[in-house]
Amino acid sequence: MKDTRYVRSTRNRLAIIDTLLKLERLGLNKGMAGNISVRWDEGFLITPSGMAAGKVHPEDIVRMNLDGEAEGRRAPSSEWRFHRDIYASRPDVGAVVHSHAPFCVALAVLHKDIPPYHYMVAKAGGRDIRCAPYATYGTQALSDHALAALQGRTACLLANHGMIACGKTLDEALTLAVEVEELAEGYWRALQIGQPVLLDDAEMERVLEKFASYGVNAQKD
Ligand code: 13P
Ligand code: ZN
Repeated sequence: MKDTRYVRSTRNRLAIIDTLLKLERLGLNKGMAGNISVRWDEGFLITPSGMAAGKVHPEDIVRMNLDGEAEGRRAPSSEWRFHRDIYASRPDVGAVVHSHAPFCVALAVLHKDIPPYHYMVAKAGGRDIRCAPYATYGTQALSDHALAALQGRTACLLANHGMIACGKTLDEALTLAVEVEELAEGYWRALQIGQPVLLDDAEMERVLEKFASYGVNAQKD
């Protein structure tokens, strides 16, 4: 029998909560930091604003449409604008994770992009992972900067703030968030001892081509 809408919505809500807890366990978010959403219907489901991961119940997840109208017993994440704008302009994205992961924050405080110092940088879709200019949290300006930094990419840093990782699924977005934090840490470490040697554009193009078929068979079940 096909799952009912209610079952599918509840499963998505539980998956969002599970991801919130994983982010906390992995040290990518602490306290109220960060937020998560999943595409749903003509809009998306998003975490409530200002709630610690361990306190969120499925009914606290807020449903929103692309006009920014919210339905639920809690206020939506203050960052609903960039979640909304990503779903509106990026049909390739089905889930968004926003985190204050510490090494991403360290680089974002310096307004540093993550350059092609490691081939895994291509995991985010291009030769670098850009850092979006600073704007106050929760504003349309922050969303506009984030969307520009995400052009042709599935992740970006946010100056003096954190990072965003997108995926077709929540699992994919979480995995990318972990990979980007790992890349930020590697770059941070390298900067302590010298000037990282960067891969050239031709090499990053080769890696991007290889990634197009990487792990395809492993993801079949
Ligand atoms: P919310 O609790 O409103 O989602 O805010 C957390 C955050 O990370 C703001 O950028
Ligand atoms: Zn934030």
